[in-house]
Amino acid sequence: MKRSRFFSLIAMAVGLSVLAGTVSAGDVNVYSYRKPKLIDPMFAVFTQKTGIKVNSVYAKKGMLERLQQEGSNSPADLVFTVDIGRLKDIQNAGLTQAVQSDALARDIPAQFREPNGHWFGLTSRARIIVSSKDRVGASDITSYEDLTNSRWKGRICTRSGKHPYMVALTASMIVHHGSANAKAWLSGLKANLARKPQGNDRAQVKAIKEGVCDVAIINHYYMSKMLKDPKQVPWANAVRVIFPNQKDLRPLYHRGAHMNISGVALTKHAPNREGAIALMEFLASAEGQGMYAQKNGEYPVTPGIAWNDLQKSWGPFKQDDLALADIADNRAAAIRMADEVGYNK
Ligand code: FE
Repeated sequence: MKRSRFFSLIAMAVGLSVLAGTVSAGDVNVYSYRKPKLIDPMFAVFTQKTGIKVNSVYAKKGMLERLQQEGSNSPADLVFTVDIGRLKDIQNAGLTQAVQSDALARDIPAQFREPNGHWFGLTSRARIIVSSKDRVGASDITSYEDLTNSRWKGRICTRSGKHPYMVALTASMIVHHGSANAKAWLSGLKANLARKPQGNDRAQVKAIKEGVCDVAIINHYYMSKMLKDPKQVPWANAVRVIFPNQKDLRPLYHRGAHMNISGVALTKHAPNREGAIALMEFLASAEGQGMYAQKNGEYPVTPGIAWNDLQKSWGPFKQDDLALADIADNRAAAIRMADEVGYNK
């Protein structure tokens, strides 16, 4: 009763989209930064298999604050979000608990989970380079490092250097190249920008279509999203997809494309710990990951689970195997670096 009332109060207070029907003690309650259409179909399959009902509440932001305010009264068992930055923020705020699960350790590669089990990646995304099919040669750019070459001066577009997607990429550069070299890279990239960083990833592709720039950095799944939107199809078709850092023989240059995750964490005060872990294990299974990845055009975190047609058309690529936990540890430095080089100015 308390949980049920609490949940609807939260929903009203934050203007969240809710939860149909009633909430009862055996249910698993999810706070999600991910849209219901991405996650609800998997929950339906889980419920079918286990009889455990899953209630999800969606919000664009504010979940962390909400969890903090609710403290031990929180009805939430699991938090779903994208990007290592947001998972790490929830962990740093002391809002998660460690999960020891043989199934999760077996199904999710170590690089994509927190060493003590505070968060787990369920799908992955490559940060790719896209270039104009008309104005850039097919092999003109092969690495993130290439982006600082003076031939690209005034020809690159990116979103804000402080957006989590860019921050994680910069953090990976810090880990691979050291702080001084990473800063030189970010500064070199900044020097080549066609315009002040603005807009989301898709806006960069649009800018290539419109001739504002010739090269951009985006998350790979935006290609499939654009190809599903008639207005955006011409944007997607104007660019070539480049998985960076594949075959270059220079040391460090063939480490693979930078990867990030969408993931899940068990909340510190999860009322239904057992049910929540069962749901996590289902989502980490081949069936769960396959469904989840397909919905958003992401990659499953585990090799061997089926890819969609677009991914198959791009073919296999090398992924940077840097641990997301290491990237997370360098996020603060990456954000400082964006300020220091005046990236968004
Ligand atoms: Fe995204």
